Amino acid sequence: MDIYRHPVFDMACQQFDLVADRLQMSTADRVLLKAPKRALTVAVPVRMDDGSTQVYSGYRVQHHLTLGPTKGGVRYHPDVTLGEVAALAMWMSWKCALTGLPYGGAKGGVAVDPRKLSHHELERLTRRYTQELVGFIGPQLDIPAPDLGTNEQTMAWMMDTFSVHAGHSVPGVVTGKPVGIGGSLGRREATGRGVAYLAGRAMDTLNLTASGATAVIQGYGNVGAVAAQSLVRQGLRIIAVSDANGGVYNPRGLDMRQLDAWVAEHRTVAGFPEAEPIGGEVMLLLPCDVLVPAALERQITGANAGKLRCRIVAEGANGPTTPEADAILNERGDVVVIPDILCNAGGVVVSYFEWVQDLQSFFWTEGEVMDRLFRILENSFGQTLALSRKENIPLRLAAMTLGIQRVWEAKKIRGLFP
Ligand code: NAD
Repeated sequence: MDIYRHPVFDMACQQFDLVADRLQMSTADRVLLKAPKRALTVAVPVRMDDGSTQVYSGYRVQHHLTLGPTKGGVRYHPDVTLGEVAALAMWMSWKCALTGLPYGGAKGGVAVDPRKLSHHELERLTRRYTQELVGFIGPQLDIPAPDLGTNEQTMAWMMDTFSVHAGHSVPGVVTGKPVGIGGSLGRREATGRGVAYLAGRAMDTLNLTASGATAVIQGYGNVGAVAAQSLVRQGLRIIAVSDANGGVYNPRGLDMRQLDAWVAEHRTVAGFPEAEPIGGEVMLLLPCDVLVPAALERQITGANAGKLRCRIVAEGANGPTTPEADAILNERGDVVVIPDILCNAGGVVVSYFEWVQDLQSFFWTEGEVMDRLFRILENSFGQTLALSRKENIPLRLAAMTLGIQRVWEAKKIRGLFP
């Protein structure tokens, strides 16, 4: 698995090995479960607006095919590598199994800073990347969705490009599309609403009341902004938020309506006048009830975990907490970490609903979507909490154990071919 060497892939493997040790898994089974099934690396040439040509590196990794087609987001970020994508695909596998979805994990991405490309350049990049994936993705094969740096528009271009090749509309090839072309009501909000719902459930277990409680949000994109709005509806005050351009802090609570108006105009939280600027690292250490990392991996590390002053870490991002940080937080015992594969699973759950609706050409109301989403999240949270209490293990170890065990069992039942 040397081709995947990367700190984030190493981190996903370390987390896996903790579970495998507990389950006394053989070396052969470890390799079988960990090794990504397929990986594709593509060169994506794009004609830029000035007439020049840039070539970007694109990736797609499908982690396992045991339970159905694979599912996972597409990331546009300058740091995207094959190893990072493989780690994210592995986490998707455990997430789908934990929530009982009939999928293996996948992930894709292009090493590009989407903020530096024009709308037309982004469209050409997305269409060419999709073109390179034709044959590798499809409703019964692998179904992409939005992730960091991509959105509904990206999915619309992917769906359109794939459909042109097929000769007919194939809405089920991607999820997270606009509702007008086969997207699901509630998909855009699903991840953030799920994060807020589970933060609320974790507060219940600590007997914390939402009213007057405080939250800090790192990353104010799809996940972070919706989580913040949902937490406010639950009665919390958001005291600090950040994005790639900077952070803002107001100990009395940010006026989220004004902040959203500012972001709509300036495309960043930085400079919001009703608050003080705050650095990203300092912001993570603010005293608060709920800390929501909703940006990148490896933000809570061995260097800052001992200094966190929150009661709950609700992982909106994938992989925001390193194994070293986990060890410190477990030792401290005063911070509950709701692990990514549970906490941000709302997105893939509603993506699954979108795929089901597309395959049946029969669409649900937002109420039906949300009702089914919260039932699945409640069930997964309940199972994870029960295992954590029974075995006296952290929630991450419990959630990963449930996910990994299900994939392991399925592989054993299906057997090895030939
Ligand atoms: P997004 O692109 O909509 O937003 C990302 C936000 O993070 C932006 O505000 C960006 O400015 C900010 N950011 C980037 N670098 C930062 C930094 N160093 N410090 C602070 N903020 C920074 O992406 P998203 O879809 O909201 O995804 C965020 C995270 O959630 C990712 O880890 C992604 O894998 C995970 N996730 C997303 C979904 C989904 O449905 N979109 C589902 C599950 C998990």
